[in-house]
Amino acid sequence: MVKKRVILEGLRGFVKPATLRYPAEPSVPPKGYRGKPEFDTQKCIGCGACAQACPTKAIKLKDEGDERKLTLSYVHCSFCGRCQDVCPEDAIHLTSEYELATFAKENAFTEVRLRLLKCSNCGSPFIPSSQVDAIVRRTKDTFEKYGINLNEAKALYSVCPNCRVIPEEMAKRKLFLLRLRK
Ligand code: SF4
Ligand code: SF4
Repeated sequence: MVKKRVILEGLRGFVKPATLRYPAEPSVPPKGYRGKPEFDTQKCIGCGACAQACPTKAIKLKDEGDERKLTLSYVHCSFCGRCQDVCPEDAIHLTSEYELATFAKENAFTEVRLRLLKCSNCGSPFIPSSQVDAIVRRTKDTFEKYGINLNEAKALYSVCPNCRVIPEEMAKRKLFLLRLRK
């Protein structure tokens, strides 16, 4: 009886194969498949939220000279999707790409490079320009409500954390905050 069932199963396989023909034919992943993560280089502002949230430390953030570099290692990625969930700019996505095999694991990565803005006081590069633009964009309505020019707000954000604690800078910020209280 068991033998008959096995033979029938085998014959059925000739008509409709139970296994996929991949890799002889492409295999389309199901909807929502969590494959290779990719940065959207046009949208990323280099905030580092993805690197902080990544449970396997697959994303590294490094400032080198005038550039911020975010590198995502496919060797360490577990395809959990946390980076995609936390990104405030919708700038990283898990794609349906799953063919990641390589003979050189040092090449199994993707990266995004962003130009750093120089501090208007000391000249040290410290934050991606696109990040300052994003902050100004998000706070625009509040500043406009208080009649504050956006360039003035941008100038405040363009001072590095070290220079922000200089007494003159602190005084400037205090006056600025007082205007927001009116
Ligand atoms: S991908 Fe998103 S979370 Fe990661 S640095 Fe870019 S903007 Fe920030
Ligand atoms: S998918 Fe998960 S493991 Fe991979 S880079 Fe994003 S947060 Fe890290």
